[in-house]
Amino acid sequence: MSFDSFCLHDSLIANIKRAGYETPTPIQAEAVPHVMEGRDLMGLAQTGTGKTAAFLLPILHRLITNPARTRSPRTLILAPTRELAEQIFRSTLDFMRGTRLRATVIYGGVGMFPQVRALRQGVDVIVACPGRLLDHLNQGNVRFDGLETLVLDEADHMFDMGFLPDIKRILAALPAKRQTLLFSATMPPAISGLAGETLTDPVTVRI
Ligand code: AMP
Repeated sequence: MSFDSFCLHDSLIANIKRAGYETPTPIQAEAVPHVMEGRDLMGLAQTGTGKTAAFLLPILHRLITNPARTRSPRTLILAPTRELAEQIFRSTLDFMRGTRLRATVIYGGVGMFPQVRALRQGVDVIVACPGRLLDHLNQGNVRFDGLETLVLDEADHMFDMGFLPDIKRILAALPAKRQTLLFSATMPPAISGLAGETLTDPVTVRI
């Protein structure tokens, strides 16, 4: 199995090489083709398995190969902590190198204004913690009319941290017709409930 078999855009292949990745991890091998096809996905995977690239590569491939006319957010990635959000954001920037795509990261505990400015300038990908993103939504700083893909990363941790009500409010502001990818290391009833509400005919990948 090699990254070439995914038929990813050349700039992604170059960025994968730059990152030093030689072969896909098991979750990448299983998940990438389904995500590229546009399927919803339930990924039962821990951190350290390569799940970030498993969702980022096929998402960025679609963003690059189907350019949008306007720069409104097309991908939203929700994560429980600012550390994880920063980590996903840095991977996003690394894989976006050489493309015209733009991304930003949103979390609490820092000033609103730089985030407002970044959102107003327009981004293709937002990586966010739910609480601060909801503040921006409530203040009208961002709209998700053009959203194509939602990723819920470490959904069990978001639940443990009490983010479920915020996530439900964010979900209500997203187009119903979209691709949703949900990653969780464990599957407590609250997460299977959330999966049932948010995923349509999902593929399940277990690592
Ligand atoms: P993640 O589970 O997404 O947090 O990734 C864990 C670590 O594995 C990160 O440092 C990634 O850069 C690295 N990684 C992800 N995919 C690969 C791969 N195919 N080959 C080598 N390293 C990888």
